[in-house]
Amino acid sequence: MRAERIIESHAEREEWRRLFDKIGKLLFDNGLQPNPINFELCHRYLTGRDRDLIAMVDRAIREGGGLTGKAVETIMAQRDSRMSADDLERMTVDFSGVIDHASAIVSRSGQDARNYGAALASTAAVLEDGAHLTPTVDALMGLTRSMIDKARAAEGELQRTEIQMKALRDDLAVAQRTANSDPLTGLPNRRAFDQHLRAALERARRTRSSLSLAICDIDHFKIFNDTHGHQIGDEVIKFVGTSLARSGHADMFVARYGGEEFVAVFEKLAPTEAGTLLDKVRAAIASRELKVTNTGQSLGKLTFSAGIAAFESHDSPGSILKRADEALYRAKEAGRNRVLIAD
Ligand code: GH3
Ligand code: MG
Ligand code: MG
Repeated sequence: MRAERIIESHAEREEWRRLFDKIGKLLFDNGLQPNPINFELCHRYLTGRDRDLIAMVDRAIREGGGLTGKAVETIMAQRDSRMSADDLERMTVDFSGVIDHASAIVSRSGQDARNYGAALASTAAVLEDGAHLTPTVDALMGLTRSMIDKARAAEGELQRTEIQMKALRDDLAVAQRTANSDPLTGLPNRRAFDQHLRAALERARRTRSSLSLAICDIDHFKIFNDTHGHQIGDEVIKFVGTSLARSGHADMFVARYGGEEFVAVFEKLAPTEAGTLLDKVRAAIASRELKVTNTGQSLGKLTFSAGIAAFESHDSPGSILKRADEALYRAKEAGRNRVLIAD
């Protein structure tokens, strides 16, 4: 048992060694510094979990003749909108520190006020006796002055704490926006979409309203990318995303699902109506000849296909997505550049 574990960990160490060597080779072959960002990109490229990142690196190597530091930065900025765990940890610690401080001030002020009340009560009792008036008034004035000082100090501290809290709240709002949006298009990302879809399905179930879900996928995008390059491919993804988002329906939520795929949730809309709306966007894009703004270079035509599914009362996010995806598959099979509704 013990020997087995040693062998296993030995094998594991060998594997780490090989990965380390490969990362080193990739860095040195491309003249990249072994800094954290370059190292992370090489690690993610070689461990192979992020397919889009691998495609981007391959393309950068193919088209740029090697992986440059600039290319690494661009790829990482696009692939990584997540906050680091350290950032979150720091914010959580800061926040609880500030909140602890604020509640300590509040409870100390409460205690000061109680002490003041008790001292006032006993001094008032002496006043009622009518004896020793001057020292009693002096004591009262002293107490009051000290209470005013303490209240002022507490107010100042609370004001400073409020400023810190506001700054932290702003940091958190920025973090939340970053975590929910796609850096390339600025649209909500898959994580935001998952959240939205869950809530929208719940609303549809509760209010017994219609809901339609669409998946849109750019046609032959691989060829487009290979012909015109990755950067222009990115611009086209942005263009399609913006066209969908601007297609203008109040209860439509558009997100980038990943790569060249977009998803749209249409609340209170039957699939035929959602289909008509999407088809207008499809036709508008398909009828245009795309051009690069600066150079006027023609990119030819671009189309997308879409599949739409209607909400059914037993639906989970997974089941409605599956039906929309099947309709998308049929749209591709039927020749692309069309919007199909699931049966
Ligand atoms: P189909 O009509 O069947 O959808 O064909 P396709 O070529 O569009 O589909 P495929 O899934 O084979 O290729 C999608 C391509 O999209 C491959 C990938 O390199 C590219 N891609 C994915 N994400 C990005 C990105 O962020 N930017 C760019 N420029 N390309 C991307
Ligand atoms: Mg696709
Ligand atoms: Mg595609």
